[in-house]
Order: sequence, then C-alpha cells, then structure tokens
Amino acid sequence: MKRILVTGGAGFLGSHLCDKLIQKGNEVICVDNLFTGKKENIRHLLSNPYFEFIRHDVTEPLYVEVDQIYNLACPASPPHYQYNPIKTAKTSVYGAMNMLGLAKRVNARILQASTSEVYGDPEIHPQPEGYKGCVNPIGIRSCYDEGKRMAETLFLDYHRQNHVDIKVIRIFNTYGPRMDPNDGRVISNFIVQALKGEDITIYGDGRQTRSFCYVDDLIEGMYRMMNSEGFTGPVNIGNPGEFTMLELADKIIELTGSESRITYLPLPSDDPAQRRPVIELAKEKLDWEPEIALEEGLRKTIEYFRRVTS
Ligand code: NAD
Ligand code: UDP
Repeated sequence: MKRILVTGGAGFLGSHLCDKLIQKGNEVICVDNLFTGKKENIRHLLSNPYFEFIRHDVTEPLYVEVDQIYNLACPASPPHYQYNPIKTAKTSVYGAMNMLGLAKRVNARILQASTSEVYGDPEIHPQPEGYKGCVNPIGIRSCYDEGKRMAETLFLDYHRQNHVDIKVIRIFNTYGPRMDPNDGRVISNFIVQALKGEDITIYGDGRQTRSFCYVDDLIEGMYRMMNSEGFTGPVNIGNPGEFTMLELADKIIELTGSESRITYLPLPSDDPAQRRPVIELAKEKLDWEPEIALEEGLRKTIEYFRRVTS
C-alpha cells in the first residue's frame, strides 16, 4: 500500500484517479480548493478510511508524508482558467514549485498533468513530443499555456538539479462522466445543449479539429506512466481519432436524438486550428493506447448527463 497525494482530486480527472488508486489498494490524500472541483465528485469516497480530503490551495506550501504525488490542480476549461488568469498562472507555477518542493523533501515520485496546450496552435500535425510548440505569450490562453510550459520546465529542472523522480504527461482533450455541465468545454456544452433542445454553439466555422480521449483510457495511461521505470517523459496521452467540431456536433445530435440546431458564434482568439497526438512513445514505453472510440465514450457520457441534468 502506497500513500498517494492527488492535487485537484475533486475535479473531473482527479476524482476518477482517486477512484482508481483506492481500487488498487492505496491510501489517498486528495487536496483541492474546490474552485472547479466538487465534493460531489468524491462523496462516495469520503467514508473510506483510506481516503482523506484536505481543502487546500496548492499556491500555498503543503506538508504531508507521501510516496507519490499526482499534480492535477489547475482549472482546465478555457472559461474557468480565463476567469482569473493571474490565479491560473500562480496555480500552475507556484503549485508546481510547492509540490516539487514537497516531493524533494519527502523523496516522493511526482507526476505532472501537463497538456497538449504546450503545443499552442501547432504548425506541425499531428504533434509528437519533440515539437516545441507555437504559443502566444501574451494572449488570453497564455496564463494556462505558458503556466503549464513553466511547470514542465520546473519539473525537468528539479529532476536535473535535485534528482527529483519526475513524470510528465501531456493530456489531450479528455471527456466523460463528472465533467461539470457548466464547465464550458465543447463536449459538455454540446451534450447539455442537445439534451435541452437548445442551439448547439459552434465557435468559428466548426472546421477546427480536436482529438478526444475517454476518461478511463486517460486514467490508465496516467497510472502506467506513474508506475513506469526509467522514463520521465514528457509523453502524449490522448486518442489520435481526430474530428472537426461540426462532426462532433452532428454525432452528438444523432446520439441524443435531439432536435437542436447549430448556431455559429465568434471563434475565441488563439483557438488552435488542429490538434492530434502522436502516441508512439506511449505505446513503446507504457504499452498503452486508448481502447474506447468516440461514439462509445459519447454514449456513456450522454447517459451521465441525462442523469445529472434531468
Ligand atoms: P477540473 O477543473 O475538473 O479539475 C481541476 C481541479 O483542480 C478542480 O478540482 C479544482 O478545484 C482544482 N484546483 C484548481 N486550482 C486549485 C488550487 N489553486 N489549489 C487546489 N486545487 C485547485 O479539470 P480536469 O479536466 O480534471 O483537469 C485536471 C488536470 O488535467 C488539470 O491540471 C488540467 O490542466 C489537466 N488537463 C486536462 C485536460 C482535459 O481535457 N480534461 C487536458 C489537458 C490537461
Ligand atoms: N467550442 C465550440 N463550442 C463550444 C465550446 C467550444 O465550438 O460551445 C470549440 C472551441 O472553440 C475549440 C473546441 O471546441 O475549438 C474545443 O474547445 P474546448 O474548450 O473543449 O477545449 P480546448 O480549446 O482547450 O481544446
């Protein structure tokens, strides 16, 4: 049994990770300031003696004794991370420093939940880990993109300078049950709109692409990375299936049987035109690849949203 800290553990991905770590027989300390996360996501764990919730902000130091740290604390949807951009940058950068300091002090292995956003609006397609990215340092997405890039820098520097045992994964768009219906990300927006019969809001012309990974696949990849040996990453974890937002809207309308129509809204600035991971490194080093295709994952996610929004 390991004692494992999950920051951002009450969020969408963090709560699924806590579930998996408890199922695997570990003791889990979940730290979250509940900015975008909810106690509801971890309610079923609160009575478990091997699970502990601490309301804490990772921009402040934390003192706990643990063997492993998964650092997920950071708002992930554009409306949420742009709500208070200075706080987002602090969460990414001070949060990484505080958690790396903790890992160094207690000799824990630490994994950073980085993002495909480090590639910005990519000129290389699909994106391998060696691509250095095309990121605007002064735009509305920069607090998140540059914050996550700085966090990666800190991880690698703590590794080189202080020999901290680090792991970095770059997560591509992930979806599934426990996404917040008001989160503002495309899959939750489209499903909620379709279920309510409201217009489906496409930003721009809808020809921009994303690659969507179902949450269970993502969590398996993250877990394998944490438990791999002799490999720091960064490694892409995502599903290489690539879809335009128009294709996504059509699929969700079809699967929900909705009568919603499509409406077009302005494209937010710096919105990446295309995104798809190269996952050869994850296959080679982690023997990992996603198993759940978009349609199957959407069916499960729609079922969840029907339950929570009805
Ligand atoms: P989420 O918003 O549901 O979860 C983030 C969690 O972090 C929330 O519970 C929130 O309350 C908590 N948090 C935010 N700021 C905090 C702070 N200062 N101190 C303590 N807790 C704080 O988002 P998610 O989709 O679960 O994302 C989790 C992580 O994965 C994030 O770091 C995100 O950048 C990364 N990621 C997610 C995706 C995705 O598609 N879901 C893609 C790339 C990267
Ligand atoms: N998007 C959209 N309608 C929405 C929400 C998002 O067309 O209601 C688009 C958004 O402009 C982007 C894509 O969907 O091109 C994915 O957006 P999301 O916020 O989910 O993730 P990210 O842009 O961070 O990949």
